Amino acid sequence: MRPFGYVRATSLQEATEAHTAHLGSRYLGGGTNLVDLMKLGVETPGTLIDISRLPLHAIEELPGGALRIGATARNSDVAAHPLVRARYPALAQALLAGASAQLRNIATTGGNLLQRTRCTYFQDVSKACNKREPGTGCAARDGIHRDHAVLGHSAHCIATHPSDLAVALAALDAGIELYGAGGATRTVAAADFHRLPGDRPEQDTVLCDGEIVTAVLVPPAAPGAVSLYRKARDRASYAFALASVAAVLDLDDETGRIRRVALAFGGLAHRPWRATTAERALTGAEPTADAFRQAAEAELAEARPLRDNAHKVVLARNLACDALGTLHSLARPSP
Ligand SMILES: Cc1cc2nc3c(=O)[nH]c(=O)nc-3n(C[C@H](O)[C@H](O)[C@H](O)COP(=O)(O)OP(=O)(O)OC[C@H]3O[C@@H](n4cnc5c(N)ncnc54)[C@H](O)[C@@H]3O)c2cc1C
Ligand code: SF4
Repeated sequence: MRPFGYVRATSLQEATEAHTAHLGSRYLGGGTNLVDLMKLGVETPGTLIDISRLPLHAIEELPGGALRIGATARNSDVAAHPLVRARYPALAQALLAGASAQLRNIATTGGNLLQRTRCTYFQDVSKACNKREPGTGCAARDGIHRDHAVLGHSAHCIATHPSDLAVALAALDAGIELYGAGGATRTVAAADFHRLPGDRPEQDTVLCDGEIVTAVLVPPAAPGAVSLYRKARDRASYAFALASVAAVLDLDDETGRIRRVALAFGGLAHRPWRATTAERALTGAEPTADAFRQAAEAELAEARPLRDNAHKVVLARNLACDALGTLHSLARPSP
């Protein structure tokens, strides 16, 4: 690992000022992704700005019922929080489906959203990779790509985004709160936070240089709405998603039809994939197995599988049908 400087920030202002002062610096959350990448020579920051001890750990209910999760809240604390477990099962399940207990104890909310792709060519500095080194090519396209994207990829990059948390937040209509240089703040919809690769695959998100994620804002869950997260992977634990789905379902108490549905896929694209085609098809519809399958297939008609990853389309369809079927049985209005 190359030598690097270390600054422990005591305020957001100090953190952003340090970022401006130290060219090529990186914020340090739990370090479970960043430090790994530094050991591989993929990340070579001159300075680490430790933000893990900023007072951003709180998980609190806001007036009006939204939940605010601080950026340095640990993944295990968020997953175990009573309000998360009771109101947002998809969020707790997504977090518990990720990494290991030891990693979740140190990994932070902000760091989880900003972790880099697990594309093995990205992690191997001897291989061509437009994300790591723009303009060098993409070794994965003709290489081993069974784990790579089937939706929204480009000629420049076919990587997937690895965060499970991000997928749940996209389905829950969460917002990501940001703090930038000069103290400017803004909130970006979780579904719009990560980018498709296009011709700039080195940019994972819409974050501006030096901006810090300060919190995640989850709107109040509608009364009667149910949610869940399902993940398919090569091993039962400690593995990234081949495909995953976060789903929220709200049925009309009188008609039993779908009042509102939200669906987001993980493991399929460079960002959580909000399934708006499927959602449109299902809103107002009878919640039947046929309707769920047709909606999922309509969404996935857009998929462009590569040589070795068409299985992901089938996995995603089956996960979506299973998730919606399960939610239907949980949400069925009482007779
Ligand atoms: C073996 C293994 C298996 C894993 N499996 C999964 C899995 O299945 N699902 C899953 O979702 N994750 C998984 N993870 C990823 C793990 O959850 C991430 O390593 C972790 O969430 C990153 O969080 P961190 O706080 O340690 O981030 P760090 O490593 O500290 O930071 C990651 C990136 O985010 C930036 N950053 C951190 N915090 C902020 C902030 N507040 N504002 C701006 N920038 C910030 C850093 O500069 C860095 O670029 C796995 C990791 C390992 C090692
Ligand atoms: S898929 Fe993206 S991250 Fe992987 S080698 Fe190609 S450009 Fe790099």
